[in-house]
Amino acid sequence: MTFACPPTFSRTLGKVFGPWTLAYHLFGVEDFLVMTLDDPDEVHRILRALMPLPALFARAQLDAGADLITLADHATGDLVAPEMYRDFLWPLHRELAKEIPGPVILHICGDTLDRIAWISRSGLACFHFESKVPAAKARWAAGDRIALMGNVNNPATLLYATPDDVAAEVEDCLTAGIEIIAPECAVPLTTPTENLRAVVEAARA
Ligand SMILES: [Zn+2]
Repeated sequence: MTFACPPTFSRTLGKVFGPWTLAYHLFGVEDFLVMTLDDPDEVHRILRALMPLPALFARAQLDAGADLITLADHATGDLVAPEMYRDFLWPLHRELAKEIPGPVILHICGDTLDRIAWISRSGLACFHFESKVPAAKARWAAGDRIALMGNVNNPATLLYATPDDVAAEVEDCLTAGIEIIAPECAVPLTTPTENLRAVVEAARA
């Protein structure tokens, strides 16, 4: 799946949190994760109750001029098993893909390799993934069912390495067939500007 955008473009990117991340904030990460084991029916009920929020907020941002929506929903492999993603959240992501009337980029931090095959079948337009997942493995798991975005490392490469190191990671991403070359997650505020420029320059080159 590809975006209908030219290689060099400027777009307004909106952002919403999905029901899983909203539940972390409302109930606390630890309490919510324990609930997935102790009371799965209640977790299903909570996630269902939270579903209107990302859908409504995304629609409002698209109405206000956003071209794409980032859906951050942190069911990461560092915290939950892939079956948890498949059973609790994947059906809801499929619903959001239909309900949000614009391209949606799902973002999940951490190691997500064991659930990318499910994510790729969500109907969402793009998955933004972290450097804990090697780009080539992400492409393998996703097939051509979903566009991929990432996965230039923030804490080591962008923050402390050289522009040449950044360019090498960009090349790895391009070689792996990653459609959108980008930092893996929120960019540290003290990241050298020359390293951020190197992402763009290396991708163009
Ligand atoms: Zn992140």
